[in-house]
Amino acid sequence: MTSNELRAKFLAFFASKGHEIVRSSPLVPGNDPTLLFTNAGMVQFKDVFTGQDHRPYKRAASSQKCVRAGGKHNDLENVGYTARHHTFFEMLGNFSFGDYFKKDAIHYAWEFITSPAWLGIDKSRLLVTVYHSDDEAFGIWRDEIGVPEARIVRIGDNKGAPYASDNFWAMGDTGPCGPCTEIFYDHDPDGSKGIWGGPPGSPEEDGDRWIEIWNVVFMQFERHKDGRLEKLPKPSVDTGMGLERISALMQGSNDNYQTDTFKQLIGAVAALAGQQPYAQASQKVIADHIRATSFLIADGVLPSNEGRGYVLRRIMRRAIRHGYKLGLNEAFFYKLVAPLVAAMGEAFPELVEKQAAIEKAIRQEEDSFATTLDKGMKLLDEAIAKLQGETTIPGEVVFKLYDTYGFPLDLTADIARERNLKLDEAGYEREMEAQRERARAASKFSSAEGLKYEGAATVFQGYDQLSLSDAKVLALYRG
Ligand code: ATP
Ligand code: MG
Ligand code: MG
Ligand code: MG
Repeated sequence: MTSNELRAKFLAFFASKGHEIVRSSPLVPGNDPTLLFTNAGMVQFKDVFTGQDHRPYKRAASSQKCVRAGGKHNDLENVGYTARHHTFFEMLGNFSFGDYFKKDAIHYAWEFITSPAWLGIDKSRLLVTVYHSDDEAFGIWRDEIGVPEARIVRIGDNKGAPYASDNFWAMGDTGPCGPCTEIFYDHDPDGSKGIWGGPPGSPEEDGDRWIEIWNVVFMQFERHKDGRLEKLPKPSVDTGMGLERISALMQGSNDNYQTDTFKQLIGAVAALAGQQPYAQASQKVIADHIRATSFLIADGVLPSNEGRGYVLRRIMRRAIRHGYKLGLNEAFFYKLVAPLVAAMGEAFPELVEKQAAIEKAIRQEEDSFATTLDKGMKLLDEAIAKLQGETTIPGEVVFKLYDTYGFPLDLTADIARERNLKLDEAGYEREMEAQRERARAASKFSSAEGLKYEGAATVFQGYDQLSLSDAKVLALYRG
């Protein structure tokens, strides 16, 4: 079953259950200045949940473009390291706006994935989690669906640990939220594949053996700026299933990068690099990043030095650097737009429409970064050669790479991580502080000209609240 077929099947299933099929909204949320990018299917329905907006339907289903590269949900650092995380992905979702609640939501999800008429997934390989105090959901799974108690795991809130599971779902620091129940699939029940990982709630839950495929959120509250939880006007449902994860499962793999869509993209990267497909992890990173880059540009974001544009620039430069690592020293990244359009243009006509503009914006970023990348890599390699057994790259080097060579901090950190090195964060901060004024004024890398954001006007106000600060980025790399 191809990804395109799966998307269509999901929507057909929920249409048959009386759901309105709604198009994906853009990646730049039109109604939310606190959110960096659309990070879930519910974002376009946020105001419907809170009762501020009304729709002519009470049930909806969508396949939503999502980017998780900043803010509460940030998976940029997972790309290239796990089999299941992307910066850009599609979230299949069904929604109830004060219509059905826990019971129907759970029954629909189970029917879609296990019924032989739909996906027919082997029930014995599934496991579910519920919010620790949610006896109602626990009861529905055990008594109505028939999941054995041993396969229902109670999970609480996590207090910010990057990987610990958390069964209280929230879009961001504010907004709709509620307890959830998640469905996991065991990709290696007899251990024959040797995939590392354990069930949710276990110390090995971060592995790629037990993979979360679907999250069903019981939307009941809205969190306000002061932290207060207010009850929503009506209990509602918001679900999200990663299209790439369910495609991988249906195509017999735990690895999203082995799906039909990614095979095409990785094939294209490998061809440019003159390598076998999957020869190096960088191929996967590049395949991931061409999707995020192209979809963001199609939705009006351009690389720049602040806010959303800077997140895009960081993604693009990481991809360009991974290309450099594969020996792609000439502009190459823009050449991947055509294979992406071939793989996804049918489902997302905006890619076809904006192909030339996307290629142009990427080409400009590649050209402007090309010379400093090469020089910066040489500087970094020299600095690393001088370490002689030390494992920390000096702050002055990290700062010079940032300030003179246009290496975003996370780009240098990405390289350090590959080589088992750390960054001297205090030293970097010192240099940064000393030259903050100059750094602020430095706009050597002007954004692409002649391409304007065409979507609805958005003001981004949430930068400070988002985990994009240097301190947070650095924290990810601490010992
Ligand atoms: P995980 O715990 O695996 O990081 P999550 O709990 O953060 O996932 P949710 O916020 O519940 O994810 O999103 C709903 C669904 O979207 C997930 O169950 C998963 O199928 C999919 N998904 C989430 N993050 C990603 C990602 N970065 N790349 C691809 N699919 C994702
Ligand atoms: Mg996550
Ligand atoms: Mg999870
Ligand atoms: Mg989840």
